[in-house]
Amino acid sequence: MTNYDTIIVGGGPAGLTAAIYSARARLNTLLIEKTYPGGLMMISEHIENYPGFPSGVSGPELCVAMKDQVEKFGAKIEMAEISSIDLTGTNKLISTTAGDFSAKTVILAMGAKPRRLGVPGEKECQGRGVSYCATCDGPFFKGKKIAVVGGGDTAVEDSCYLTKFADDVTIIHRRDKFRAAKMLQERVLANPRIQVLWDSVVEEIHGNPDVDRLIVRNLMTGSRSELKVDGVFVLIGQEPDTEFIGSQVILDDFGYILTDTEMRTNIPGVFAAGDVRQKTFRQIVTACADGAIAANSAEKYVEAVEAGELVAAVPETGLIQDIIGEIPSPISDSTILDATKE
Ligand code: NAP
Repeated sequence: MTNYDTIIVGGGPAGLTAAIYSARARLNTLLIEKTYPGGLMMISEHIENYPGFPSGVSGPELCVAMKDQVEKFGAKIEMAEISSIDLTGTNKLISTTAGDFSAKTVILAMGAKPRRLGVPGEKECQGRGVSYCATCDGPFFKGKKIAVVGGGDTAVEDSCYLTKFADDVTIIHRRDKFRAAKMLQERVLANPRIQVLWDSVVEEIHGNPDVDRLIVRNLMTGSRSELKVDGVFVLIGQEPDTEFIGSQVILDDFGYILTDTEMRTNIPGVFAAGDVRQKTFRQIVTACADGAIAANSAEKYVEAVEAGELVAAVPETGLIQDIIGEIPSPISDSTILDATKE
């Protein structure tokens, strides 16, 4: 068993930033990531709102730069899959495919995974025309007709990107307005290769074996129609990757980790940062900010423990849910279902 001051779980922007700050604070730091570090940045073709890059920067380029910065300050990166994690004791224990580790503090920064539609045909056609990553799969659709599901920044931005390859892109969105940033909306609505099916949802995906058509339902009229496409990009947001920690830390109803503003969870010595925690604005820059705060909190925790001070758990009422509860939540799936009742 190798012992560390801090183990960071997840190598997206939150985890990488936490590792930079933790290593610079001279904490013996390990970052565990199952694939190449970078998280969702790795599948972002072009990032134009990360400060310091007026012409934008490619996602993979930013990943490599952040990883190099982590290693420069002496944090160790281990590419491994976690098989079990015990956060409850004074020493946190993590078993992985690369061995067993323990640490005084853990920063949970697992990010999120793509949300599925959950309709017939989706699972069967995954990798055969159903994709969750425009950067990874866009080049396979040169000269083809495709659909994009979603109305957030990812769906709208990636639809423009996909017109580099596809001749025809149809965005299918369940409401009559996009959630995406205004500038992205203007760009998509001005693109002659893109049309939008408003107030519509995909009910079935067909293909034998590759996707050849979708069944789309208009939520206002209830009518169902067939849309012939060669592929469909499901870009409807993410879900937190928290299943493997079970009920050890307090989660909200959607599985996001509750923290206070110092990124502390309900367990002393366990922090969370980035998309995996409950928050209202998920961006690379906000993930980085979380990572820096979490590492600073971890440093203070280690100092307190080493000084023999008793660190109390954060009371449940101090966790962020109480603050977020005041903010109106986005339209939910159940609201949409209600709207479809005839
Ligand atoms: P998102 O903001 O959560 O948007 C998800 C979209 O999918 C929404 O339009 C939502 O509809 C729709 N949707 C959700 N579940 C659905 C379902 N079951 N069926 C049909 N449609 C469904 O996700 P995202 O676009 O991936 O963005 C995630 C985060 O990354 C956001 O904070 C975003 O700002 C950020 N991001 C930023 C950039 C950038 O700044 N350039 C680029 C990409 C992502 P409703 O609108 O009706 O809820």
